[in-house]
Amino acid sequence: MEMKRADLHMHTTHSDGTLTPTELVALAKSKGLSCIALTDHDTVSGVKEAQEAGRRLGVEVITGVEISAIFGPGTMHILGHCLDVENEKLKQGLEEFQIARRERNPMIVQKLNALGIDMTLEDAIEESGGGQVGRPHFARVLVKKGCVKNFEEAFDKYLAKGKPAYVDKRKMTSRDAIRMIRGAGGVASLAHPKLTKLGKTGQFEALMAQLVDEGLQGIEMYSSCQSREEANYFRDVSKRFGLIATGGSDFHGANKPEIELGWMGDGARLGYDTVELLKGASNGNRKSGV
Ligand code: AMP
Ligand code: FE
Ligand code: FE
Ligand code: ZN
Repeated sequence: MEMKRADLHMHTTHSDGTLTPTELVALAKSKGLSCIALTDHDTVSGVKEAQEAGRRLGVEVITGVEISAIFGPGTMHILGHCLDVENEKLKQGLEEFQIARRERNPMIVQKLNALGIDMTLEDAIEESGGGQVGRPHFARVLVKKGCVKNFEEAFDKYLAKGKPAYVDKRKMTSRDAIRMIRGAGGVASLAHPKLTKLGKTGQFEALMAQLVDEGLQGIEMYSSCQSREEANYFRDVSKRFGLIATGGSDFHGANKPEIELGWMGDGARLGYDTVELLKGASNGNRKSGV
């Protein structure tokens, strides 16, 4: 029998992906995935729809979220899996992120206008299709208006960190992100560890020691951005730190067209045993029996 396959990292129109939760579940089905986790940035608003579609189509959808933590010079994203999406503290924490975006987005428009680009906040809201508004939506507006040749150029010229229309957004510390996820019964893991840009160094291992001390329970061994060799290294790190080794494609639909749903590196396949480990480590699921 074909092994049950899982992909535990992906985005929908509720953050910066381009498929709706229902469309994403249908795609997962067509790719032969038996279990997926929706991990939109800063929100769990797409999970319910995905779970309903999952029940109809026979794809298991586990809850998830991805939170950006304060870190430099690379980026640090913390994934939460198997959390109770109705948890009050989680809802409050995620609402703070929505407020931060509502404060930031008009500032991005102002900067673009000051650079001579004629666009409004409504343009970006429309582009988001009612989901959370972020830089990818501004990028698509700039492409449509012909201000840039393509999506990448919108970031390179205007929206990336250090470029003239960049506006910083409030972030959480890793400690607070992990606490919020675990407080909601979830399992906290480090997403695409390669993007911390620390390489295979003592510095990376010191960071892992710190995160484990803060309550981290997993690390994303497989990711579309990580090579087979890097995956081997992160597997080794997961063993040494007693962490669950997870994996996901980080699928974003047409916003990152080179990433295919279910593909998480050369030869990488994530089995259902990882899902069982995550469920076993979560409190939310044990309590509510999901
Ligand atoms: P935001 O959360 O609004 O700051 O937007 C962050 C999202 O923008 C990321 O999740 C990526 O999808 C996208 N993004 C950020 N930097 C770039 C870049 N240099 N090129 C393309 N997409 C990017
Ligand atoms: Fe993203
Ligand atoms: Fe990420
Ligand atoms: Zn992601």
